[in-house]
Amino acid sequence: MPALPAAILFDLDDTIIQAYARPEEAWGRLLARFGDAFGDGEDTLARVQRAILEEARTFWGDPANAAKWRLDIAAARRLVVRRALARLRRPDDALADRIGDAFTEMRRAEYRLFPDALETLRRLRAAGVRLALVTNGQAEAQRAKVARFDLEWRFDHIQIEGEFGKGKPEPEVYRHVLDRLCVTARESWMVGDNIEWEVVAPQRLGMRGIWYDPHNQGLPAGSPVRPDRIIARLADILD
Ligand SMILES: [Mg+2]
Repeated sequence: MPALPAAILFDLDDTIIQAYARPEEAWGRLLARFGDAFGDGEDTLARVQRAILEEARTFWGDPANAAKWRLDIAAARRLVVRRALARLRRPDDALADRIGDAFTEMRRAEYRLFPDALETLRRLRAAGVRLALVTNGQAEAQRAKVARFDLEWRFDHIQIEGEFGKGKPEPEVYRHVLDRLCVTARESWMVGDNIEWEVVAPQRLGMRGIWYDPHNQGLPAGSPVRPDRIIARLADILD
C-alpha cells in the first residue's frame, strides 16, 4: 500500500461516472436520429453537429455563463441547439428543443460508473482514508446520480453546488469540505477531470491536485498546469 493521504476528494461527473465525455461522438450519434427532420442528407447533419459543438464551446467557455447554466443543463442544451440552428439560417426553436431534450435523455440513459470506481473507493475506505464527493451542478440532478449509483454511504461528505450555494473552483468549496472532513489541505488530495477546477484550484490551497485523464488526452499543448499526478484509471491512486 502506498503512502495515502488523510483524505481524498473526488469529482463526480467524468471522474466517478462517465457523463459528458466525448461530445463529438455523442452529438453525432444523437443527430443520426434526426435525419428526417433535416431532410437533406448526411452533409447537413455534419454541419448541424459542427455548429452545435462550436456554440457549446462558446457557451461553456464563458465562466460566468457556465456557472449560471450548469444548474440547468437541459435548458442550456436547448439554447445551444437553438443558436446553432439559427446560425445555420434554419431557425426552428421547437426542433432545437426536441434535439436538446433528446440529447439530455441520451446522456442520462448512458451514465455509467467507471469500472474501477466502486472498488477503488472501497479500498481507500478500508485503508482509513476519509472520502468526499465534490460536484458542481443542480442539487436534484446530482442527488439523482448519487442515488442511482448507490454512492451516498461510500463518502464521509457529499457536497453539491446546488445545495451548498457555491461551486468549484471557488476556494470556499474546498475549505468547507476540508472542515467537514477535519483535515488540512496538506493532508488532502483532489481527484478530477477538470484541470482548472480540480487541479489548479486545490493546488492553490495547498492540496495535491490529481488529474484524471481516462481517455489519455494529455494536457493541452502549452498548458502551464502541473498536476501532482496524472492517472488514467482511478485504481492507479492505490499504486
Ligand atoms: Mg468532472
